[in-house]
Amino acid sequence: MGEPLKILLIEDSEDDAQLLLRELRRGDFELSWQQVQTAPSFQEQLVKQTWDVIISDYRLPRFDAPTALDIVQQSGIDIPFIVISGTVGERLAVDMMKAGAHDYLLKGNLIRLPEVVRREMRDVQIRAERRQAEVVIKQQLAAMEASIDGIAILKEETYLYVNQAYLRLFGYERPEELLGETWKLLYSEEEIHRLETEVRDIVEKDRAWLGDMTATRKDGTTFIQGASLTVTDEDLLISVSRDISDLKQAQEQIVHNALHDDLTGLPNRVLFLERLELAINQASRDENYRYAVLFLDLDRFKVINDSLGHAVGDQLLREIAERLKSHIRKIDLVSRLGGDEFVILLDKIDGPETVTHISERILESCKTPLTIEGHKIFTSISIGIVMGTGDYHQASDLLRNADIAMYRAKKKAHNSYKFFNAMMHTHMLNRLTLETDFHKALEQEEFLLHYQPVFDLFNETLVGFEALIRWQHPTHGLVFPNIFIPIAEETKLIRRLDKWVFNQACQQMASWKTTFKKSSDLKISINLSAQDLQTHELIENIDASLARSGLDGNSVIVEITESMLIEDIEKTVDILAQIESRKIQISIDDFGTGYSSLNYLHRLPVDNLKIDRSFVTQLQAENRNCQVVNTILALSNQLELTSVAEGIERPQQLQKLKQLGCRFGQGYLFSKPLPPKEIEANFLTR
Ligand code: C2E
Ligand code: MG
Ligand code: MG
Repeated sequence: MGEPLKILLIEDSEDDAQLLLRELRRGDFELSWQQVQTAPSFQEQLVKQTWDVIISDYRLPRFDAPTALDIVQQSGIDIPFIVISGTVGERLAVDMMKAGAHDYLLKGNLIRLPEVVRREMRDVQIRAERRQAEVVIKQQLAAMEASIDGIAILKEETYLYVNQAYLRLFGYERPEELLGETWKLLYSEEEIHRLETEVRDIVEKDRAWLGDMTATRKDGTTFIQGASLTVTDEDLLISVSRDISDLKQAQEQIVHNALHDDLTGLPNRVLFLERLELAINQASRDENYRYAVLFLDLDRFKVINDSLGHAVGDQLLREIAERLKSHIRKIDLVSRLGGDEFVILLDKIDGPETVTHISERILESCKTPLTIEGHKIFTSISIGIVMGTGDYHQASDLLRNADIAMYRAKKKAHNSYKFFNAMMHTHMLNRLTLETDFHKALEQEEFLLHYQPVFDLFNETLVGFEALIRWQHPTHGLVFPNIFIPIAEETKLIRRLDKWVFNQACQQMASWKTTFKKSSDLKISINLSAQDLQTHELIENIDASLARSGLDGNSVIVEITESMLIEDIEKTVDILAQIESRKIQISIDDFGTGYSSLNYLHRLPVDNLKIDRSFVTQLQAENRNCQVVNTILALSNQLELTSVAEGIERPQQLQKLKQLGCRFGQGYLFSKPLPPKEIEANFLTR
């Protein structure tokens, strides 16, 4: 089977047509054809179907080859056009070729016809493919121009092509500004150096690179250029780029946020521990290397936060963070662990003297009060210090020990520091065993009450007792409340404990009242904890205890400390009102050591202020604490409250208190807290 060939034949002579077709068949073509003799029928056939070739006689009676060629060209169809003629001269042939005919053959010499047809068909094919390719290139170019990414093509380091986005990216307007220029025009000396030393090798080796560069715009400003570089087989470098400055910044922000505290902007626990691990490693390698961890905790932050509001609390933390930063060196790290806890890592120190020095500076700076939203706030900090040695292998151990030392510092005095020592750890462990014992103690009723007499200072008569709890520990002996009340509060066992105390104290008082005539007017004072004031269970317990003992509410005084009042003021007011409605008196314990109750003292159904022992202790003739006590007394007078002075140990103190007009008091001068039997013997029978 020959190659199929569809011919549109312009010919009037049948013989000539046959001759021509025969030649083609001989050339191994499988023919189909249409013969036309006039322009209209040619025109009609031309568009009716697709033809492989047009073969045209030069001259026909009513038609000719030039006219036909003209029609083909008008139509825009690319099809081989071969002219055949008997007698045409050279000039005509050249004219035809110039006009666009593809070849010219003489009738007498048609032997070349198959070959010519084949060649022309191939050429048409090639032309079609090229046109197709041109279309694709045009489309691609349009796409490149429309791209929002900057695209550039470089040959031997200079720009061959840049799209609009690339120009925009670098702040140029016309392609000519970059075409023919080297890429180095767009980068700083430093960046060029980096690209030439770090990036070029990779590009050459991998034929591709993806990364960031710092690029310089035409106006000199810079941005982060994210770029993908590809080298083509022809050694063209294609760069696709965009401005990723925002993205970079967002990424950096995310990393920063993960490692820093929102409120103060200080490094957070994660970052601190990372740095601490480094120090631990360094210390294990280099025995001369020393570091220290300082654990800092604001004293009474909760009181400030609760009384002045969280906005003030937050601002205070920020200001403290600033102060701390100002005391450390560049190589140190200050971090906020959370709440009011900060830690400092002092790196590469000479010895404990440096740490002492820095700690003292921090404490000294705390003495200057801060003014926040019009409030003058005095803060103080307790600092626990651990010296880093090669013995430490875990960051958590260092933090724990620094925390223990801080706890000890806080107990010693506010605004002080303490170095950790192994004894503290032992003490801490003791506290832990105490904690376990405490649970048992409740079950086994190891608690008991002592009673401290309270007197009318003016006529030195007994007015009542304060019930104070003790723990008869099986091995430690008598344990005092300052040791276990904090444990009871932490473990939430305080409510059970106080429920027991309330009941026990009421029973005792009721029993004394029936047994001893002179006790009929005495009152019993019972201490409560903040947690007691948080539920109505307290009221149920009070009612049950009063009912069981038969004691009247007006024989009972409850003592609450100032800071308890501010936990949840609404609820507190509500619960206190219920207590009051049972004729029970309410006394504010340790008055003067908190901040806040002045703000709403007048809102609370309070009867009594207990002046804290710390003021009474310092009550000497010319001491300024006279002023404090004086102020408290003036205040209680104004609010029509009675006052009880705590901790009267010396006659001078009693003297002074009387002078200042304090009506009631208790203290070792009169009596220590005593077991019931001794109270009976010393105060009730005589
Ligand atoms: P507080 O209510 O302020 O009790 C007064 C504390 O001062 C008592 O300490 C008492 O023994 C002591 N004291 C009294 N006079 C003097 C004195 O002249 N000199 C000295 N140095 N101290 C004196 P205590 O018994 O160790 O109680 C400590 C705190 O434990 C109490 O302070 C109270 O806040 C709390 N507490 C005691 N019993 C209970 C209780 O049953 N429940 C609750 N929630 N807390 C209690
Ligand atoms: Mg008390
Ligand atoms: Mg007190």
